[in-house]
Amino acid sequence: MATARRVALVRSAQSICAADRLPSNPGRASRVHALVDAFGLSKGIAVIEPELMTDAALAAFHSEEYIACLFGQGADMSDCSDSDGGSPESTNDARSRHEMFGLVDDCAPFEGLEEYVRFAAGGTVVAARALADDKAQVAIHWEGGRHHCQRSEAAGFCYVNDVVLGILELQTRFERVLYVDLDLHHGDGVQDAFAYSRRVMTVSVHLHERGFYPNSGGSYDEGRGRGAGHSINVPLRRGVRDDTFVRVCVAVGDCAVQAFAPTAVVVQCGCDGLAGDPHRAFGLTADAYCAVVEHVLGWGRPVLLLGGGGYNRADCARCWARLTAVACGRSISDAADVPEHRFLADYAPGFDMATAPAAIGDENTDELIGTTIRAIQRIIHSSPRAEPR
Ligand SMILES: [Zn+2]
Repeated sequence: MATARRVALVRSAQSICAADRLPSNPGRASRVHALVDAFGLSKGIAVIEPELMTDAALAAFHSEEYIACLFGQGADMSDCSDSDGGSPESTNDARSRHEMFGLVDDCAPFEGLEEYVRFAAGGTVVAARALADDKAQVAIHWEGGRHHCQRSEAAGFCYVNDVVLGILELQTRFERVLYVDLDLHHGDGVQDAFAYSRRVMTVSVHLHERGFYPNSGGSYDEGRGRGAGHSINVPLRRGVRDDTFVRVCVAVGDCAVQAFAPTAVVVQCGCDGLAGDPHRAFGLTADAYCAVVEHVLGWGRPVLLLGGGGYNRADCARCWARLTAVACGRSISDAADVPEHRFLADYAPGFDMATAPAAIGDENTDELIGTTIRAIQRIIHSSPRAEPR
């Protein structure tokens, strides 16, 4: 029996409240942490408060122009139609500036945006630092994992790329970082940020079909220049089930560990692939995410666990509470009752930990999956190794 891992969970009452205001995931953070606490999981692990990230620290990845637009004019935009300072010209200017930086539509400014962004980024960096300083072997930040945001452009509900900032922090101590993205969507922002690097290998497992956001992440997408062979993409079709998902993640992940020899691992645990997610795209249960994370922990490297997508609040809370348990060396079965706590009513009608079962067909044939795995293993094995610094 292995000794208990040292686990850190990054959160504070204020950061949870700030994350609850993210329009794509209202109230999700408080449900996740209430369920974690209801199972007593925060006892016996280090709970670390996130910092509000400064502009200077955000500029390690994001452009100063983007940060200025993100924080400078967000409040004006939400009520620009009736603000008296706004001539039609200046309103149009503000609108075009926001468009230029992607701060429109699914990334429109919202009340509380600045605090949310500073905590989302600051929390992931604090978690990465806990690993770099060897204060923990596993660090968790469920409010992180905003993988779509680019250096100067918000995208796909992501206003800041905390993942990139967290990896940059890990690189102060760890030579090679493996990033594994389990979200339903391609981890394009993180891949693009490190496309030319051979010190970061990104592996994204996602739904890939014509017209599905963000329309990137085919297996031909392998990285650029010196980073060739270090952007690994695992395109899946609709309806993938637990067994296949775990098989693919284990085969590709083990291959990446063997060839790349990472010294730290980051897992984006976006759970919009759960069968009960409003996307209805994959047919996964929380068992799949638990099995993959358990396997990743078995690699024996420091691991940073981040959140991401997940739009069925109750199923997302079930999944991430179970993953928190896995990190702590505990197991919560899907048959377990949801303990009495303030959000118990959200878990009707079963009031247990089982996430919704798959209700759509699986378009991933064994033959297709086998071919995909073999093609990806060839790419990984042909990737040049980074020389020691
Ligand atoms: Zn997603």
